[in-house]
Amino acid sequence: MVIGAGVVGLAIARQLAQRHGGVFVLEKHRKFGQETSSRNSEVIHSGIYYPKGSLKARLCLRGRHMLYDYCRQKEILHRQCGKFIIATNQEESLQLESILEQARRNGVESGRILDRSELQQHEPHVEGCRALYFDTSGIVDSHGLMKQLETDAVLQGAEMAYESQVTGIRKIDGGYEVTVADASGEFVFTTAAVVNAAGLGAYEVSSMAGMDDPFYRLYFWKGQYWAVGNGKHKLIDSLIYPVPQAKLTGLGIHATIDLNGGVKLGPDAVYLDGGKPDYSVDPNSGPDFYKAASRFLPFLDPDDLHPDQAGVRPKLQKPGDAVRDFIIREESDRGFPGFINLVGIESPGLTACLAIGEMVEGLLKEEG
Ligand SMILES: Cc1cc2nc3c(=O)[nH]c(=O)nc-3n(C[C@H](O)[C@H](O)[C@H](O)COP(=O)(O)OP(=O)(O)OC[C@H]3O[C@@H](n4cnc5c(N)ncnc54)[C@H](O)[C@@H]3O)c2cc1C
Repeated sequence: MVIGAGVVGLAIARQLAQRHGGVFVLEKHRKFGQETSSRNSEVIHSGIYYPKGSLKARLCLRGRHMLYDYCRQKEILHRQCGKFIIATNQEESLQLESILEQARRNGVESGRILDRSELQQHEPHVEGCRALYFDTSGIVDSHGLMKQLETDAVLQGAEMAYESQVTGIRKIDGGYEVTVADASGEFVFTTAAVVNAAGLGAYEVSSMAGMDDPFYRLYFWKGQYWAVGNGKHKLIDSLIYPVPQAKLTGLGIHATIDLNGGVKLGPDAVYLDGGKPDYSVDPNSGPDFYKAASRFLPFLDPDDLHPDQAGVRPKLQKPGDAVRDFIIREESDRGFPGFINLVGIESPGLTACLAIGEMVEGLLKEEG
């Protein structure tokens, strides 16, 4: 049984259904992808920045290859548009070298430093003294991807239960008793295995089962976007990022293109103190976005920007803490065999979803 029909839960359901047929997916909303999976940048990441050997680095790289193949095979809209990291001064220019080294350590195959004139040949409206270019980055239609994953899973025997919220989990002999609330009330069923892919609700679900581990505690960080209007979205054709600042909780406000030719700036990183998701965009945050992006997009004027959407990252760290890796863990060693927790699946979770599905299947096989 899989809890959560975001892109990760759906990719896991597809993988398990392909190998073992019957899989049950429980989702509290009326359709898939109503939370983080539909509120992100839709970028297929190259896997540049994550620490070597981390799950984020490994699953991003493997997931990227799998995702491009899957998109080509199933005709899911995507574009390998490439990504530029722009240095605007000498200090940032030096940092490009260490980002390239980190990318190579992670096994990212592309990556090339361009001088100003080469940058201008590719992106004539972008300002920078040097840039790092990765042709492996791209964008994907996340809704189309989720629709296809759901279709594949169902065709292989998975059952989707929408408007079905998991409210309790109890360990019993040989498995778990799961309590579910739906429109008709509450019902209970038993299952040998539970995969917790509940995104923002993953800590709550693991706690329900009795694993109230402070190490799994999630902290919510909002990422807001502002869209670029007044026809200026036509002025870039790739993903344009700044050099990340030390201790940053995201990659810095960058410009992403979408498959309809739109451009949005963001996401920023706002810690949500109350521990509840909040999808509002602060109407007063525009000047911060303008200030950050106009350093490398000099054609922008403040009134070109209008508030767009926001998403919420389920992070394992609060402000000031060191960056943490994904937790993807089979919990036999603490007395919960066949229970897999996926906690802190922030970026690059969309890119990595197919590789995560493969990993979860492997963990369940090992557990036997
Ligand atoms: C601002 C932002 C930008 C991002 N940009 C990128 C990007 O460009 N590229 C990239 O690779 N990644 C990106 N990410 C990360 C990516 O979006 C996530 O890693 C991914 O969507 C996580 O998918 P998920 O299925 O784990 O979570 P979700 O999509 O949140 O799905 C979890 C599901 O579980 C359900 N659920 C929760 N509790 C229960 C319960 N008790 N019972 C039943 N159902 C339950 C929820 O309703 C939800 O549908 C970004 C994230 C954010 C916030």
